[in-house]
Amino acid sequence: MKYIILISLFLFYAFFQYQEKQTSAVGDIIDSTAVKVNVDDSSRSKIKQVAKVFSSYSIKVSLDVQKKLLKASQIIKWKNPSTIPTSELYFHLYPNAFGNKRTEFLSGRRIPGNSHSHININKLTVNGKPKSLNYSSSRTGNRFDSTVAKIDIDQPVNQYDSLEIAFEYEVKIPKAYSRFGYDANEIFFFLAQWFPKLGVYENGSLPGTAGWVCDPYYPFTEFYADFSNYSLEITIPNSFKLASSGEVISKKVESKNTTYKVVQNNIHDFAWLAAKDVLDFTDTIKRKDHSEVTVHYILQTTNEGSRNRVSTAVNNAFNFFEKNIGTYPYRTLTVIDAPTKAGMIRAMEYPALFTFSKDYFSPEFTKDLDEVILHEFSHQYFYGILANNESTEAWLDEGFAEYISQKILQKKYGQRFASFKLFGYLPVTGMELLAIERIPFIYTLTQIPKPFEADLMAAYYSYATFGTLSDTSFRLLNRRVYQSVSYAKGALFLFTLEKYLGEKKLLFVLRQYFNQYKFKHPTASDFFAALRKFSHQNIEWLITDFYEKSYTCDYKILGIDVSPERHRAEIVIVRDGEAVVPLEIDLYTDMDTIKTFWNGKEKIKRFTFNTRNTIIAAEIDPQRKNLFDLNFANNSYTMKTQYSGALYISTRWFFWVQNLLMIFGGLS
Ligand SMILES: [Zn+2]
Repeated sequence: MKYIILISLFLFYAFFQYQEKQTSAVGDIIDSTAVKVNVDDSSRSKIKQVAKVFSSYSIKVSLDVQKKLLKASQIIKWKNPSTIPTSELYFHLYPNAFGNKRTEFLSGRRIPGNSHSHININKLTVNGKPKSLNYSSSRTGNRFDSTVAKIDIDQPVNQYDSLEIAFEYEVKIPKAYSRFGYDANEIFFFLAQWFPKLGVYENGSLPGTAGWVCDPYYPFTEFYADFSNYSLEITIPNSFKLASSGEVISKKVESKNTTYKVVQNNIHDFAWLAAKDVLDFTDTIKRKDHSEVTVHYILQTTNEGSRNRVSTAVNNAFNFFEKNIGTYPYRTLTVIDAPTKAGMIRAMEYPALFTFSKDYFSPEFTKDLDEVILHEFSHQYFYGILANNESTEAWLDEGFAEYISQKILQKKYGQRFASFKLFGYLPVTGMELLAIERIPFIYTLTQIPKPFEADLMAAYYSYATFGTLSDTSFRLLNRRVYQSVSYAKGALFLFTLEKYLGEKKLLFVLRQYFNQYKFKHPTASDFFAALRKFSHQNIEWLITDFYEKSYTCDYKILGIDVSPERHRAEIVIVRDGEAVVPLEIDLYTDMDTIKTFWNGKEKIKRFTFNTRNTIIAAEIDPQRKNLFDLNFANNSYTMKTQYSGALYISTRWFFWVQNLLMIFGGLS
């Protein structure tokens, strides 16, 4: 009983301590008529950035919020970009992922009846001739999945020949279970992956070959499409606000509904939102050349107190990318705060639009709200502009977004402290909760700030041998392995690379990679080609052992043999695991530090140092460059049990990772 009272008191304390300032939202809701409409060219960056576009989408769509239905007519104009003719077209019909429980996406999971959805194609023509859709399960063999469909064309379509494909269709909108649907209050309709979208017709790996890349909706990986020009007329009830991937160029208000004309060029997907009872405002980011980007925010009214925190994160990310990677190419960016009960709509990226969601308790010291905004913004570059195939090489967007967002966090947000979410909801510092649990040993160890890479390392360690970066993402074992590989290992790969190349050089490489592949579909080989060309440093060991293979490594010092009479010390090092990593080895004496470098190859290696000084300790990789080392605690060896700086750092790092593993393990 005593403990229950103590815990209750603590929770009340946490509530009042961390609840952000909530003020009345009334009076600050800006009517959507105030959404800035940019039709002149003065705000466009002077740097011309356009994609080579071979298709366009014109869509008229209306939302019926009562029936939870979209009605649309759509015309796609497509030119064959390849020298190889084709006589078929492939389309994604993603709403069918929620059509029955045996789809690839649901893989047997039952979902509530109101979370079912499907797309009904009522009319389909190609160049004016009626056509029928054939559902295709060629990639997976799953005949219950109808998220991919094929149209056969009478005549082969040669390079630059064009087709006009016209659809009329209805989409039943689900109650949000995944990335698409409406919230529990039925006032937030988020439409993503809602329209028939062409696959990508691209050249094959063998010369003279080409084919359609059009994957079904997989359980955890994401999407892939070509850059296109989009023009939409979206009709929604007058009481709802619109936010989208596009720029509103006109609107027509009628008795019950408003129709918005919205355009965006050089994007590969289009998402939009109709919502009411939300904060709706815009902000402008101005560049030195006087061009500007209009940021359209939709926030939950309960999160008005976080308004500055959200826009600061967006500005921090925008400034970092424009300074270090390249220019944001669109005139608009839409940032949407999704309700907490809206499935996986929270924290998703689309071209010129991303979503996040704020937990009710999100104290600033955890930096978790800032982190998710930085991550999702980063996808504007790694996914939006560098449009890799997210279902096969997810680390190229998830790992890269994670790496850059963590960098911005480190640079702009200072020290971070540990927290984890009690019951998945209330963040409590690890220190305080463990103190209540009366584990004083861990209490002491957790009173330290959290190393920035600790979460990534813990997530990587848990599944280090379950898959690797070169594995086809959608074939990875499950969501946890997918996240460990694509997010954690991907980001650790880049952090380790940075530590070996230096930050300046890696950012230079990323800038070149961006310039060469913007508005294209880069692969890992393209990134490695840029890396080899611009880094001028041998990093093949990293590519072979940590990209191609799921090799692991743990370097450890077994001991130091000291012969004072011969003025000699010998360090014995063991390499566990298959990976080979070049490393620095330091010997600390009472007078100096003696450094040596090792290619890391031998399984057991002895280093002999000649010195008259008193030996204190030895350490492998003192700058923690190799973040793949599975155990930092055995990287140092101290002659006496006295306090040692090097040992202290190692121990501190080790216990952090161990504690995180313990916490994650306890919650799973
Ligand atoms: Zn992401």
